[in-house]
Amino acid sequence: MTRPLRSALTRSTLKWTAMGVSAFALLAVAGCEQTTRQTEAGSSYEDQASQTEATVKAEPVETAEPPASTTQSRAAEMLRGGDDATPQQAKEFLEAAAKDIEAMNEYASRAAWVNANFITEDTAWLLTKASTEYAEMQTRLANGAKKFNDIKLPADMERKMGTLKRGSNFPAPETEGSAARLASIMTKLDGLYGKGRFAVDVEDKRIIEILDTNEEGDDDFGKLGEEAPKGTIHLGQATKIMAESRDPELLQTIWEGWRTISPPMAKDYDTMVGIVNEGSEELGFKDTGALWRSGYDMPADDFTKEADRLWGQVKPLYNQLHCYVRFELNSEYGDEVVPLDKPIRADLLGNMWAQQWGNVYPMVEPKGFNAKSVDITALLIENEYDQEKMVRTGEEFFTSMGFEELPDTFWKRSLITKPADRDVQCHASAWDIDDKEDIRIKMCTTITGEDFQTVHHELGHNIYQRAYQDQPVFYKTGANDGFHEAIGDMIALSITPEYLVKIGLMDEEDIPSAEGDIPILLRQGMDKVAFLPFSLVVDQWRWQVFSGEISPEQYNEGWWELRTKYQGIEAPADRPADAFDPGAKYHIPGNTPYMRYFLAHILQFQFHKAACDMSGFEGPLHRCSVYGNKDVGERFDAMMKMGASKPWPDALEAFTGQRTMDGTALLEYFAPLQVWLEEQNEGRECGWDMPEE
Ligand SMILES: [Zn+2]
Repeated sequence: MTRPLRSALTRSTLKWTAMGVSAFALLAVAGCEQTTRQTEAGSSYEDQASQTEATVKAEPVETAEPPASTTQSRAAEMLRGGDDATPQQAKEFLEAAAKDIEAMNEYASRAAWVNANFITEDTAWLLTKASTEYAEMQTRLANGAKKFNDIKLPADMERKMGTLKRGSNFPAPETEGSAARLASIMTKLDGLYGKGRFAVDVEDKRIIEILDTNEEGDDDFGKLGEEAPKGTIHLGQATKIMAESRDPELLQTIWEGWRTISPPMAKDYDTMVGIVNEGSEELGFKDTGALWRSGYDMPADDFTKEADRLWGQVKPLYNQLHCYVRFELNSEYGDEVVPLDKPIRADLLGNMWAQQWGNVYPMVEPKGFNAKSVDITALLIENEYDQEKMVRTGEEFFTSMGFEELPDTFWKRSLITKPADRDVQCHASAWDIDDKEDIRIKMCTTITGEDFQTVHHELGHNIYQRAYQDQPVFYKTGANDGFHEAIGDMIALSITPEYLVKIGLMDEEDIPSAEGDIPILLRQGMDKVAFLPFSLVVDQWRWQVFSGEISPEQYNEGWWELRTKYQGIEAPADRPADAFDPGAKYHIPGNTPYMRYFLAHILQFQFHKAACDMSGFEGPLHRCSVYGNKDVGERFDAMMKMGASKPWPDALEAFTGQRTMDGTALLEYFAPLQVWLEEQNEGRECGWDMPEE
């Protein structure tokens, strides 16, 4: 599954997101990359895929430096008086902060929307200005909130203060010049990634074959050797080679090549860690990792254990998948390249970070299943669906559950079809411009099964945004940061053959029998199950870096220790002494937290199972669709309209009846696959040893 490349400007908005708005998402608005992350604007949610597969085509557009902020902060004005914090003062501060945030959200969202829909120098300038102002506001509000650290406030006010203190995931200390220094380091790190290119042999036939034969209409990759500097390739091209090549030698070259962009980041990264740790301590947190983990309504250290508990639940399924895939790759590549008792080489799994393995599915596809599969793309074409009809069908999914129709403005203002005459950011995203009714999506929809799913997913974000529109601005976001993407994905899980029949896309007699579903579950598991340990490792590493458990000298070693421990993968060869491999994954230099993706992958199945149980569905969970069920819709709405106003267990309970996150629903969904994998793996030596110290 190829994902659209991020345009240069997407990258600049991402930077903004990382520093400001998306962080604010945590606080009040929202946040989404490929896994409920708010990537772009005040209230936009981008599909998770882009987050995890951020790829860049060209260098960021250079824009002139916008002027410094001129906006007045009501909340900051308010605090200018005396230093004695009182509950009354806290109340007034929060009221003023809410006004600041509301005004800034709408302004920043509009700037981001215009930029994403009309990519020009000027809209990039406007967006940079808005994002700078946004970040400044967050810093002001966080510093304002901490003045009330020592007084006892009513629980709701305490909760709102918490969202302000977590407003930025990368807080600067108050010392003169720190904020500017931090911003410049973060911009530099982001730029090193965005501009990352590395040299390849442009005469290499294996590379030419992959990069020079673009499919019709696919202009994402450019011609080899044409882009400056000549003889180098960018991440988008490297990604394509990683996905398509089956030549271990070439894969290793490209994999190692991309990792030459990150060693220059290591020193700055270390400096940045020092600055944000100081900023986090000033706000009252032990370190920045503790600040991040404070957003889960439990003590920071308990959340560390909670993440490991969830992983422990799903690990047996992952281990079976790992064992099966290693065996199949071994049959293709032999013992030399894929020894059966070692971790799998990270460059052989079809993805630059070995985070999702779907691209090598053809190499592991099970034999002997003759069941006809459902080709949604063909059905859409056969039934003459156009882009709008796809979105109308998605809307109907929600109205069938009792939700209101989308507002007229949605249809007037959304971007659904790629315009012919201008540059836009094509990556699918969902937006909430005014924190009320002005919800929109932006996607260059193609008539494919993949985009049919994406439509349902993006509308899920919009429905969530609209559901919590009456909450105070502090709470206009997911119950915890895993919820938003999980909701979009949960809806997409309901796109079953039975659903396609109900909406008239398919004939009833064409429904395949569930026994033949192993290939479909395996294909899904190659992405969704393989992703679990990766999504855990990214922040495990950062938490340990922030706490000092991993020292700067151990950055790379620590990274690989975690990668091997959780994922069972290893580098194709010894890494150079100066390697900084974490920096070759966007979210590290892009400074975007990642735990939300892990949680979203757990929660989407938990939501799906709860909904299916409620509807009285009997049968395999992967065949359940909650289309048309108004009772499910009602309880779904009850959870969503809480936003983040209550601790997330309350929201989870409102929908599922459970107060803890639970990986067993994921296991139930993939149960037929797990049984099948265990049969395949019988007699095989599964697992791996950690490399010797
Ligand atoms: Zn999404």
